[in-house]
Amino acid sequence: MSDVQTVRGPVDTSALGKVLMHEHVFVLGTEMRENYANYPNTWDEDARVADAVAKLTELTSRGIDTIVDPTVIGLGRYLPRIQQINAQVDINIIVATGIYTYNDVPFQFHFTGPGLLFDIAEPMVELFIQDIREGIAGTGVKAAFLKCAIEHPGLTPGVERVMRAVGQAQVETGVPITVHTSPGTQSGLVAQKVLAEEGVDLSKVVIGHSGDSTDLDYLCALADAGSLLGMDRFGLDVLLPFEERVNTVAEPARRGYAEKMVLAHDASCFIDWFDADAKEQAVPNWNYTHISDDVLPALLERGVTGEQITTMLVDNPRRYFEAR
Ligand SMILES: [Zn+2]
Repeated sequence: MSDVQTVRGPVDTSALGKVLMHEHVFVLGTEMRENYANYPNTWDEDARVADAVAKLTELTSRGIDTIVDPTVIGLGRYLPRIQQINAQVDINIIVATGIYTYNDVPFQFHFTGPGLLFDIAEPMVELFIQDIREGIAGTGVKAAFLKCAIEHPGLTPGVERVMRAVGQAQVETGVPITVHTSPGTQSGLVAQKVLAEEGVDLSKVVIGHSGDSTDLDYLCALADAGSLLGMDRFGLDVLLPFEERVNTVAEPARRGYAEKMVLAHDASCFIDWFDADAKEQAVPNWNYTHISDDVLPALLERGVTGEQITTMLVDNPRRYFEAR
């Protein structure tokens, strides 16, 4: 018996059911919207909430019970809107704390921290722990995992600072981590090294966006070090086409790695990084139901067993969120 925190409160990990391990509800830049109301899209609060309710309801119709939403600072996290949506859809939404950057820390941290102008203990660690233990921004909703990123620029001073703070908060609280990585630069290996230096148990880490790669040597090395591979961008076919994404799950499964993979789309109901119509044209399959409708049948065709699919959708997420 072990509870995991969700938007609606604690849920026993045995009740999480089928889990998509990396889906956003919204990815938004509030400051842009407050200044440029029509770029790149016009925001209509009521319409966007209703659309999210409809899309999440459609997802539950496919038998998915839980989404894990790594929307943290830098991606527009705003819990009251997520609570409003979740009140209208029967789905578990597990939320995160952390900071999303490929380069620098936000200016709210730039001058404040160890060895800086305002020389205090790392404030990120304290904020992350507060989100996990007390809840996020007075909502009472507690973060159940941590998130950081390491992209093409690699381990910049800002990326390293966030990653070490995430590692320290993990060790203090025991909640797991997901890392946005870029397999093209093998940045998952760097994340494993830094997090291990902070004392993190690598079995508590998802190496996100691993499914953008076909480099099985790289992927097996990450899994052999203990981490879960996030095969989590199904539908983002511009980055890696459908067939190759499916094969990058089927072949590791054949080699015995089903216990080291989790599935998702990294989709959202709405993301303001792109013009909505242009996005729909470029990546028409980048939505919540692509795995249920297209990917799972394709995996079965390639010899992945129903049992292995259950391992990836149910057992691995449950174990990941189970307290040590
Ligand atoms: Zn994401």
